[in-house]
Amino acid sequence: MEIEERVNVNDYVFKVLETVKLRNPGEKEFHQAVEEVLTSITPLLEERKEYLEAGILERIVEPERVVYFRVPWIDDKGRTRVNRGFRVQFNSALGPYKGGLRFHPTVNTSIVKFLGFEQIFKNALTGLPMGGGKGGSDFNPKGKSDMEIMKFCQSFMTELSRYIGDDIDVPAGDIGVGDREIGYLFGQFKRLKGAYEVGALTGKNIRIGGSLVRKEATGYGLIYFVSRMLEDNGLTLENKKVIVSGSGNVAIYAIEKAQQLGAKVLACSDSSGFVYDYDGIDVEILKAIKEKQRKSLTEYIKFRPNAEYNENSKNIWKIPCDIALPCATQNEIDEEIAKILIKNGVKAVGEGANMPTTKEGIDLFIKNKVLFAPAKASNAGGVAVSGLEMIQNAGKTYWSYEEVDQRLKKIMYEIYKIASETAEAFNEPGNLLKGANIASFEKVANAMLIQGIV
Ligand code: NDP
Repeated sequence: MEIEERVNVNDYVFKVLETVKLRNPGEKEFHQAVEEVLTSITPLLEERKEYLEAGILERIVEPERVVYFRVPWIDDKGRTRVNRGFRVQFNSALGPYKGGLRFHPTVNTSIVKFLGFEQIFKNALTGLPMGGGKGGSDFNPKGKSDMEIMKFCQSFMTELSRYIGDDIDVPAGDIGVGDREIGYLFGQFKRLKGAYEVGALTGKNIRIGGSLVRKEATGYGLIYFVSRMLEDNGLTLENKKVIVSGSGNVAIYAIEKAQQLGAKVLACSDSSGFVYDYDGIDVEILKAIKEKQRKSLTEYIKFRPNAEYNENSKNIWKIPCDIALPCATQNEIDEEIAKILIKNGVKAVGEGANMPTTKEGIDLFIKNKVLFAPAKASNAGGVAVSGLEMIQNAGKTYWSYEEVDQRLKKIMYEIYKIASETAEAFNEPGNLLKGANIASFEKVANAMLIQGIV
């Protein structure tokens, strides 16, 4: 883009967005994530024209590297299966690429690029030295045996191992990738390298170099963030009615911590439906069904007399609540659902999943003064503890549960402070989305400026 074209910041951002759309056709989630960040940082760009001169915007929207690869494996019936593997190494201005792996049939280039782009800014907010990346596969772990999962993970890692390492790129889990999958991935990585390079993956089981509190970190971190946001607005979690979508890693530990802080969590969902428990969700039963047995939520009502099952996951948002915590997947809350939540008197929305609210949904929440905790700030607890896992691995040491939990809490409070102070400094008090985007973008852009045009 010519310098003259860069004078009007709004026009300039618009042109960068148009280029992103042209260069990445059909990648609607990626376009959405880029648009959300770039349109919210214009007040910063007005002040820091040097970012425009140095082409920070054009560079930040272009991944440093994207790889995709064939993942062949043999199922239990002896048939050859082929999936596609992805890794996007988006930005290394602040440290080695860092971000999870998602195994889900919907994974494609758009999904890994949107997640990788978000990850750059989320990681910057943690204050830890981590760049942004993401990866995964269109492999569907549902209904697969342990043996099939292992074979798939081994084949996936055989390719991925060329691109990762503790100073290069450090993957972790995401949807469909928990400590079982990380264990198989790490085992194969170790075998290929002929060395126990423990810091090349995070989210490991604590018996093989993982960190305490990593499993709980995203959900707990979300609640630490939300409770601080409520407190700042004269509210607490005590006796609040909470609805959580999803019943995976993030949802389970968000429910657990919210209940510890006095909230009543009435419902949670999975991809097949949702349960409404009048007595409050029993998190131990949920863990047994989802973490141990890996079964559907339909099992839950067998153990709870006052619980009901409903087949439409989206209808979970029709239950009146004070606090909504979307913890399943992207774009769960659209304009229509946002309207229902607002009509039912929702006071706060805390994003546990990545980009669970559409742009129209976010605009409605902000317009209606619903307290809104944006994902890149409120779900940063997972990657923060992954960062702490890397530090423990590098120092060949282990910290106690209390120590990691305290550090997590401190990081989440700090992220809240940065986001809210930045929002205030840019004349939009309470707009944590804007605050988080501006603060994190500035951090990454400054690091990019120092390193020249690379
Ligand atoms: P899991 O695979 O552990 O759980 C995902 C849950 O969401 C499952 O219960 C799944 O249902 C449910 N789900 C998926 N799609 C839908 C849908 N369309 N409607 C309703 N429920 C659905 O993943 P995580 O908990 O790890 O991840 C959840 C979200 O949090 C993702 O957006 C992820 O990117 C984000 N995140 C995760 C982090 C982590 O540390 N794990 C860190 C930061 C963000 P089912 O059981 O039927 O498959």
